Amino acid sequence: GFCTETSIFHSKRAPISLPTTPNLDIFTFVSTRVAVSTSTNIALIDSLTGESLSYPQLWTSVASVASYLVDVHNIKKGDVVLILSPNSILFPVVSFAVMSIGAVLTTTNPLNTAGEISKQISDSKPSLAFTVSLLVPKLCAATSTFPVVLLDRAPPTHPRVVSSVFDIIKDGKGKIHRGLVKSSAVVTQNDTASLLYSSGTTGVSKGVIATHRNFIAMVEIVTRRFKLDTSLSSEKEIFICTVPMFHIYGLAAFATGLLATGATVVVVSKFEMGDLMSAIATYKATYFPLVPPILIAMIQHAGTIKKNHNLSSLKKVLSGGAPLSKEIIQGFTKEYPTVEILQGYGLTETTGMGSSTDSKEESERYGTAGLLSPNTEARIVDPDTFASLPVNKTGELWLRGSFVMKGYFGNPEATKATLDSNGWLRTGDLCYFDEDGYLFVVDRLKELIKYKGYQVPPAELEALLLTHPEITDAAVIPFPDLDAGQIPMAYVVRKKGSELMGEAIMEFVGKQVAPYKRIRRVAFVQDVPKNASGKILRKDLINLSISKL
Ligand code: AMP
Repeated sequence: GFCTETSIFHSKRAPISLPTTPNLDIFTFVSTRVAVSTSTNIALIDSLTGESLSYPQLWTSVASVASYLVDVHNIKKGDVVLILSPNSILFPVVSFAVMSIGAVLTTTNPLNTAGEISKQISDSKPSLAFTVSLLVPKLCAATSTFPVVLLDRAPPTHPRVVSSVFDIIKDGKGKIHRGLVKSSAVVTQNDTASLLYSSGTTGVSKGVIATHRNFIAMVEIVTRRFKLDTSLSSEKEIFICTVPMFHIYGLAAFATGLLATGATVVVVSKFEMGDLMSAIATYKATYFPLVPPILIAMIQHAGTIKKNHNLSSLKKVLSGGAPLSKEIIQGFTKEYPTVEILQGYGLTETTGMGSSTDSKEESERYGTAGLLSPNTEARIVDPDTFASLPVNKTGELWLRGSFVMKGYFGNPEATKATLDSNGWLRTGDLCYFDEDGYLFVVDRLKELIKYKGYQVPPAELEALLLTHPEITDAAVIPFPDLDAGQIPMAYVVRKKGSELMGEAIMEFVGKQVAPYKRIRRVAFVQDVPKNASGKILRKDLINLSISKL
């Protein structure tokens, strides 16, 4: 059966086999996959400029950047390289180059403030950064140490800018055959490939250690999920990439996974609904991975969209990153009846997709996040007793599989609290499985707030609130919102006699954080409810906030 005596749930999808060679990096794995190594398709194309890279150009560009990293900057295995950039056709070039020499990729949200970027940089300690000219001032305000390489063609205006990827690529070093640059370092599947930041179940953002093995497993899962593993027909699929490549969703799906299939990735660098719909029509996109807020906008503006854009090429939309309601699925299917709507569930800590629906029928088991990804095991654990629970019982979802992170960077305590010695990852999500093995995400046990798919760690906002001279205590919780999914809401305890208003509090925080982290609702309380050990009783506050609706 699906659930064994020991209450472990096993994936119902056919298993996939993973390479056993110990010395293997994600770039070599992707670029030598049979159909891909010979593909002459367009790999990446910029939706606005039409600038593109064919597969052969992608491989040589990666080799050029990799040798630049080694020869010019002496980047060694284990050194960290930062990309601070919106989506770009050069993002996968640089990330592959970094990983191919055993260096470690780290990313950050370009919307973050210099202060937020600075905090992350002092944790991951990169020795080189890639960014676009528009973000150079912010990056340089965040740090004074490492050199900067541009991802666009603007003339270097800052003394720290040393080169541009376009120059590196056209310098002719691309003639170097891939494989040759990896002169000294041997990269094993167990080595660290990336550090993406996530707050996990509690506290502030931490670097998630993803290994080459994690990415290799995710490539196979993504390939299978999009049914691109069976034939060369995959080469005809055209994907729209608007989900951010700095996030695991974009990095694992578009900057690695799909480039192992020979598909074409249309890269959208700036989110704008009209441009996005034009991109689908112009490039005759067939697959469109997205987050629920885009689906909601597509439903709300269906009339105008269908009048102005020919979306007839579109076969599938794939929603992930946040829950997808029955109303959205039905609303979307009503407006776009020929488009199949699929869903995926995953975490930064699982290098992406832990479960998914793979057909319309599966998605119409409303509320489900689908079947576990191939090779994946799960448990549903009672959060109080740690007992394993059977089907149809709700508890915390624990996951095990080749995609589970190695731990949090430089943070053994957080690692120990999240990963147990048997390889189980605590997701912090409250879930259950039905009799047929379909996963249902019911609620979040962890503190995390997700605004339009972006992570907002409450602990970060609470720490900021406590720096206000008139605030004595504060708690931040998610508040439901149709467009964004959730918005951050603060419960604030004012100093005696203070008449501080909600507006002033929102402005105080807003000036110091990225727009997606802004507090958008404030209420005042006498005390923040806490348990005996001083932990905020967030559920009480969440219930209080909803009861006032
Ligand atoms: P991140 O690490 O930013 O990808 O955030 C991971 C978290 O997003 C998960 O632990 C869930 O709480 C939430 N999440 C992602 N996908 C889904 C989904 N399909 N349904 C419900 N929640 C989701």
